[in-house]
Amino acid sequence: MDEQQKPKRNIFAMIIPYILVFGIIATFVGILINRYANKTVTWSQSEVTEKLNSGDVTKYVIYSQYESSMVTVKGSYEDSSTNKSYTFQVNIYENDWINTYQPMFEAEHGGDVQWSVANAYETSWWDVWGPTIITTGITILLVIFLFSRLASSVNGSNNKALEFNRSRARRVDASKVRFSDVAGCDAEKAEMVEIVDYLKDPKKFTKFGAKLPKGILLVGSPGTGKTLLAKAVAGEAGVPFYSISGSDFVEMFVGVGAGRVRDMFKNAKQTAPCLIFIDEIDAVGRQRGAGLGGGNDEREQTLNQLLVEMDGFEDTSGIIVIAATNREDVLDPALLRAGRFDRTITVGLPDKKGREAIMKVHARNKKLASNIDFGQIAKRTVGFSGADLENILNEAAILAVREGGTEITLKNIDEAIDRRIAGPAKKGSAMSEKERRAVAYHEAGHAIIGLRLENSDKVQKITIVPRGRTGGHVLMTPEDDRFLMTEKELKSRIAGYLGGRTSEEIFFGDVSTGASNDIEVATRIARSMVTEYGMSSLGLVQYEKDNSSVFLGRDYTSTQKNFSTQVAFEIDTEVRRIIDEAHKIATDIITQNKDDVILIAETLLDQETITAEEINYLLEHRSLEGFGKIETPSEQEQENK
Ligand code: ADP
Ligand code: MG
Ligand code: ZN
Repeated sequence: MDEQQKPKRNIFAMIIPYILVFGIIATFVGILINRYANKTVTWSQSEVTEKLNSGDVTKYVIYSQYESSMVTVKGSYEDSSTNKSYTFQVNIYENDWINTYQPMFEAEHGGDVQWSVANAYETSWWDVWGPTIITTGITILLVIFLFSRLASSVNGSNNKALEFNRSRARRVDASKVRFSDVAGCDAEKAEMVEIVDYLKDPKKFTKFGAKLPKGILLVGSPGTGKTLLAKAVAGEAGVPFYSISGSDFVEMFVGVGAGRVRDMFKNAKQTAPCLIFIDEIDAVGRQRGAGLGGGNDEREQTLNQLLVEMDGFEDTSGIIVIAATNREDVLDPALLRAGRFDRTITVGLPDKKGREAIMKVHARNKKLASNIDFGQIAKRTVGFSGADLENILNEAAILAVREGGTEITLKNIDEAIDRRIAGPAKKGSAMSEKERRAVAYHEAGHAIIGLRLENSDKVQKITIVPRGRTGGHVLMTPEDDRFLMTEKELKSRIAGYLGGRTSEEIFFGDVSTGASNDIEVATRIARSMVTEYGMSSLGLVQYEKDNSSVFLGRDYTSTQKNFSTQVAFEIDTEVRRIIDEAHKIATDIITQNKDDVILIAETLLDQETITAEEINYLLEHRSLEGFGKIETPSEQEQENK
């Protein structure tokens, strides 16, 4: 922890130990190589004579010994022609040595031969111990080096290897995030204001005996700004902010997580008032006591420790724990008990106003074209989270740079939204003309349902630019953000999804695989209508519920079935009926509006993308010619001036 306060280490200081160690190793290796790679030549007596006479031997040291009748002379010499050094060894008969060679060696060396009588066969201590000493030395140096790095980094960053039980919470002393950076979550922010007040001055509350919640649980889908909100609370209150992710507690070793929890709270108490933020708390806070393949002791211990710590600090201690999760359903009930995370704040997906506000926040440091209306974009981005919107603006900025533009245009933003929905456009993909036609009529079929059927979503845009796995798509959004949907709206929506396939049937007499996703979604809606919403002849009974078991993992048991096979049959019949009815509606609408479908499809083949405004104009004037006429003359006028 305390990474913020760690002085930045000089890069040279970091490199020097490495250089030293490698230098030392290189030196030793060099010595060894020199020592053993030198050629040792054994001379015959005639060669000795020859070398001595030729004057090749420039330097030698003799250490020899009379050994029975043999003399061994060892020495070194430099070959004057190659400038290389050699070691040599000669075995000479004692008599020859005394009579012939000794005088020759002495003469060669100016009578100043350094030679001593020693046992030539007795290797020197260095020959025996040298390699051992060198290798041991290197090993010791390496060990010292490694340990000194570990030890020195106790104050530094990579102490994790030795300190399992230390909390991994990162501490931020002055969070720069403010409530003004969190857009659109007004209700959530209002809830948090109290907490900020408390953190600023805990005594104010305790004087009146008021107890604030120790723990606040933020629940919401990913990217809705939970983490951001927690940071903003710390920033507004100006207190230290410990942030840790639930998965940081989970380790291979049992007890480590619990140790970390203990350590984190110990640290926090020293800097109270402060805020502890546990992100993705479902990683540790899952219901205890069960699990596929035995209980998870480690997680349970960690969770228990967390509960103990939260019970342990007094209401006056000035510590507030905020946890975030997008899976409230899997949390252990003990976590949600009073005195622990007893206040739950749901951070929902932003509504239209929220989306507009979020985009404005993230547009603050971006150069945008002046004609961009965030209200309009917000309309088209139903269901997008704050993170999605931030991502769209960023993506648009990247696209603008790629185009070499000077500012982010509406086109960039539109493209970014399309990318977000369906992936990047497949440039120059080889869709055959026949396929393009099929896609165009398919998408026009979706669109005409949206345009002509009551209660259906509004068509915002149609495109036949292939992206990801789709050949094209129609962007349809509800008029306003919806919390509830009526039966009629659901049926219209199903008809809308079936419109694409229906159009293929009517215009080509043949159908393609392109509708599989449409059919999947339509079936899902129809099934929910029957089994969850009570919108069928089976009555107001809930037959199915998305109740994926936490313990078995979602994939094992996706739905819980509370019915007999007889009912299963009836459900299927009802689902089929709803789908068939919707298909009939779609068929009727498309047959009645054949001209419009053809018009839209042909325009699509020409333009690839049509927006809502263009569609309105197209249906009224039967051609896009002259669309945007109002702007064109004024532009020309300006040019003329
Ligand atoms: P969560 O923790 O809920 O998954 P985050 O708080 O990490 O989501 O949000 C991700 C990013 O999305 C944030 O860094 C922020 O830039 C952006 N964001 C999300 N919600 C908002 C919001 N209400 N206002 C401004 N930005 C937001
Ligand atoms: Mg988060
Ligand atoms: Zn479709």
